[in-house]
Amino acid sequence: MADHNQRADTIVRKLRENGHKITPQRLAIIKILAVSEGHPSVEDIYEQIRADFPTMSLATVYRNIVLLKSLGEVLELGFPDGSNRYDGNKPAPHPHVICIRCKKIVDPVLDSLDEMKKEVALETDFKILNHRLDFFGICSSCMAGKG
Ligand code: ZN
Ligand code: MN
Repeated sequence: MADHNQRADTIVRKLRENGHKITPQRLAIIKILAVSEGHPSVEDIYEQIRADFPTMSLATVYRNIVLLKSLGEVLELGFPDGSNRYDGNKPAPHPHVICIRCKKIVDPVLDSLDEMKKEVALETDFKILNHRLDFFGICSSCMAGKG
């Protein structure tokens, strides 16, 4: 949990540096994003803190995510069906593995990623700035019929 707190602190510092106030509801949103367990959607975050902030709207959560995204502190995983998910724990581009049944999303550690980026640059003569690498499959819980 220690690095999750550190991650939340980093996001708070970045907001303050950019002149944004840290309200209790903003901090609650940040804390969920800093952990990013399962890569929450806007609705997931809203559901998790709604009880503590009954007057807060879904739009408030959304606006906060847009702000954090603009500061480079949240990575948005967009999907064609509009079910976007968010990672505030690792805001830099990184690969994901997505379960097509339960929509679980995890971060694999790929030793071959740096090699792959070099290979793409060499083959296409592009300077690579960013990447989006998603693997789709069925997670072990779903395979076991528990998902
Ligand atoms: Zn699954
Ligand atoms: Mn991730």
